[in-house]
Amino acid sequence: MKTQYGGRKMYVAGQWTDRERVIEVRDPQDNQLIDTVPAASVADMLQCIEEAKEGAKTAASMPVHERISVINKAADYIEENKEIYAYTISREGSKTIREARGEVARCIQTLRISAEEARRIHGETIPFDQRPGSENRVGYYYYVPIGIIGAITPFNDPLNLVAHKVGPAIASGNAIIVKPATATPLSALLLAEAFAQAGLLPKVLSVITGYGTEIGDALVTHPAVRMISFTGGLEAGEEITRKAGLKKISMELGSNSPVIVLEDADLEEAIEASVSGAFSAAGQNCLSVQRIYIHERLIDSFQEGFVERTKQYSVGDKQSELTDMGPLISEKEAIRVESIVEEAVGKGAVLLEGGKRDGAFYTPTVLSNVPDDCTIAKEEIFGPVVLLYPVADLETAIEKANDVRYGLQAGIFTNDVRKAHLAIEKMNVGGLMINDSSDYRIDAMPFGGMKNSGLGREGIKFSIKEMTEPKVVCYKL
Ligand code: NAP
Repeated sequence: MKTQYGGRKMYVAGQWTDRERVIEVRDPQDNQLIDTVPAASVADMLQCIEEAKEGAKTAASMPVHERISVINKAADYIEENKEIYAYTISREGSKTIREARGEVARCIQTLRISAEEARRIHGETIPFDQRPGSENRVGYYYYVPIGIIGAITPFNDPLNLVAHKVGPAIASGNAIIVKPATATPLSALLLAEAFAQAGLLPKVLSVITGYGTEIGDALVTHPAVRMISFTGGLEAGEEITRKAGLKKISMELGSNSPVIVLEDADLEEAIEASVSGAFSAAGQNCLSVQRIYIHERLIDSFQEGFVERTKQYSVGDKQSELTDMGPLISEKEAIRVESIVEEAVGKGAVLLEGGKRDGAFYTPTVLSNVPDDCTIAKEEIFGPVVLLYPVADLETAIEKANDVRYGLQAGIFTNDVRKAHLAIEKMNVGGLMINDSSDYRIDAMPFGGMKNSGLGREGIKFSIKEMTEPKVVCYKL
């Protein structure tokens, strides 16, 4: 079955709409033009918000069985067309076709879980008679939708991270306006197509394409928009938080995730998981492994095995079934990564592997002896670069792992339950993976970070909590 969407249009309140001014969507691996989408204006965004006011009423009055049905039908449509969805992700973004298929499968799951959670938005009764004089009162609270949600999404998971906002929003009876990343708008538009085909009532969902710096403020500052759900970088996240005013804010930001490998770890397992955690999606993943702290007695064998496995990682054409890693999202991004690595090497870091750039491609790179004053030692690289550090003990590893301004997820490899428990207690992260790298997630778990990695949690049930508010009902008898 062929999808209806052919590019050139955005989805405004149920209408496929074009504009004279367009944004070119190019394949980062060869700069080929894939399609164009409208470059929406502030007036377009304001129109979207006006339409969403109606959409919020429609969404709130949809019975739960209809919400379940429409979300499941959208998931069915994606399943029927999954190769088109995967191809689109891998064409406009930097994922390989195999990685893109994985994202489509997760998106279907995200939507199915959203449909299930729609029936579980419960309140509870309130024992009012706990206060003397309130013996004649009974009541309860239940959750109501907040109205209009503004969703701003990044390029690196251009389908599933949009589904993580749209699925829960519709499940909980809200209207939602999505502003996808300018580099990768086509996957988000395909998601809109799935909902249009599923029969979602007009005005509940809009996907408006345009530059964040041009149309973002109109969405973020509008008083009718009751929540901004943002996934992206720290800089844009901080700016949005400053401007948003009195509304709910959910921030899913970046990190430079640590992994600890202790003396008793299974070495092969730790190497395999950390290599894939560092280099999948060319390291452009908020959970990417960036810093690995290895017990000093294991460091030589770990380093040797890690570099050997990295050398086997095949970099190249995203559409080839044999490719492990594609390009970065743009040549500009690859040059940024290259310069941060060069800065580290200039300050004394040892380049164990990689460090080569060709256009938007940057080879999987392994560094050791990285001085603390290098940018890469503290900041998110968002590219295929990993740093190896020897450590004398767990306490030192935890201290170093925590000594950054991020705290999304972390991993620890150990078979000692006491050591694992110490890490659970002491590490300042939103999630800790025992015997896996930081790069593990299922779509139903609470997901989000501490410190500058974010505010609030996603993971359907948890997003629904953020997208609703309790209303109290009390009967005086
Ligand atoms: P980004 O540059 O921050 O952009 C994210 C989105 O924000 C894009 O749609 C962008 O629009 C928009 N935007 C930028 N500036 C804006 C502004 N002033 N007002 C309103 N919107 C604005 O991030 P990215 O490069 O796409 O993604 C990479 C970052 O996302 C990394 O830091 C990564 O760790 C983080 N991330 C976090 C998670 C998580 O769940 N914690 C998941 C994935 C990614 P344009 O595209 O038009 O600029």
